[in-house]
Amino acid sequence: MTPVRVLAVASEVYPIVKTGGLADVAGALPLALKAHGVEMRTLMPGYPDVMRRLAGADEIRRWPDYFGGPGRLLAASHDGLDLFVLDVPHLYARPGNPYVTAEGIDWPDNGLRFAALSRIAADIGHGLVPAFVPDVVHAHDWQAGLAPAYLHYDGRPRPGTVMTIHNMAYQGKFDRDLANAIGLPRDATFDVHGLEYFGGISFLKAGLQLADRITTVSPTYAREIQSDEGGMGFGGLLRERAGVLSGILNGIDTEVWNPQTDPHIAYRFGTNDLTFRAANKAVLQQQFNLDSSDEAPLLGVISRLSWQKGLDLLLETIPTILGEGMQLALLGSGDRDLQDRYQAVARANPGRIGVVIGYDEILAHLIQAGSDALIVPSRFEPCGLTQLCALRYAAVPIVSRVGGLEDTIIDIGEADASDRDATGFKFAPVTADALSGALRKANATFRNKGAWRRLQLSGLATDVSWRNRAGDYAALYRDLIARRG
Ligand code: ADP
Repeated sequence: MTPVRVLAVASEVYPIVKTGGLADVAGALPLALKAHGVEMRTLMPGYPDVMRRLAGADEIRRWPDYFGGPGRLLAASHDGLDLFVLDVPHLYARPGNPYVTAEGIDWPDNGLRFAALSRIAADIGHGLVPAFVPDVVHAHDWQAGLAPAYLHYDGRPRPGTVMTIHNMAYQGKFDRDLANAIGLPRDATFDVHGLEYFGGISFLKAGLQLADRITTVSPTYAREIQSDEGGMGFGGLLRERAGVLSGILNGIDTEVWNPQTDPHIAYRFGTNDLTFRAANKAVLQQQFNLDSSDEAPLLGVISRLSWQKGLDLLLETIPTILGEGMQLALLGSGDRDLQDRYQAVARANPGRIGVVIGYDEILAHLIQAGSDALIVPSRFEPCGLTQLCALRYAAVPIVSRVGGLEDTIIDIGEADASDRDATGFKFAPVTADALSGALRKANATFRNKGAWRRLQLSGLATDVSWRNRAGDYAALYRDLIARRG
């Protein structure tokens, strides 16, 4: 195996900074790639949390003026990850979320903040750090979308580039006047095969247009984003570039998500012995103020509360949930309106519906370990991670038939058609009616203990690890390097 060096560029990396699935991928993929002969280093911004955790990192370079203020490039190792950290206090030393203010508004200088990240990625691509000259620069999402653009417009020999889309909805759109401040030729912002996007610029478009390869996080999402609707403005571009676009499913960190060793759950359980799930269910019911009952199917949700996730549809099915004698434990945060509506439903249905608003990793583990089924009713879902964790914890997924949900769950009605065993319930179209139907079917199946157990066991037997998926990325890097010569 020829060793390959890859610079990954990501705006969040688990376990250091996480707002969503991108962090999980950026944190797990480098570890899984080691077995495939790929040495990956990850470049991320030096947010306060990062600087606190990586105190003692080595300084590699220092600039008196980097995008308007002093900046440094650091190298550090953390939890098996090899990191480059761009420490530019005037861009990143801010409290809270990496992308938005405490009021939930995008930081007004996000264009500058993430152009700075991409700029340094391109410089490392060109050999800024002699000890690590990458064969490939792998950019994740719009925050890294300019990395392929800087490399492209520079004109010097460059490494191969890969752009991965974790969510088409986030496109990094800015005013074209930004071009001067970020050091790209103004022509590039008028280039319809470059950054230009409906009179402005889009960092995501830059990456999609100029990277050698494009990947997204499931084969079905790779198809969906080539449509006008799924492409959210980029369907045409992606149809044109279909030859270099592929979908590689995400895995999960099977160490962090291991019911046999999980320190966050009340009772650990093995893959052959699910009896302790009942004990976890009892603790979960307590924590969500639900009636203690083993007979009532307990539905779990762990999600951002946003239009994408379809949780407004789940609200419409509350009468079905109550009518079928089911319970609901929901953990989520996001849209104010949805938060308020869920809290109101919980107040109106004590003992039956429990809601915790917030971000709580420990509680997320307990929901996976204690709920009977996990609901993911997304309108679109590039891959989705919670349903993968659910498979590993024997919570049966009930999911909409979109994106990675379609690819990772086998519906109870599909089992005969494929030679794989069913692992859950899928519904389409993404409507409250179809979701209600799936909930009723799940309830009926739950009453048949043998059938339910078969679903749980085939879920547990599903490979949700990064092992094979990392192999697909390694093959992609090698193929790209070979073709570029
Ligand atoms: P997305 O990245 O679109 O939010 P994914 O399913 O790909 O959705 O990844 C979400 C990740 O964030 C999962 O690891 C999930 O467990 C976690 N998560 C989402 N909401 C919460 C929450 N409120 N508390 C704890 N973890 C959460």
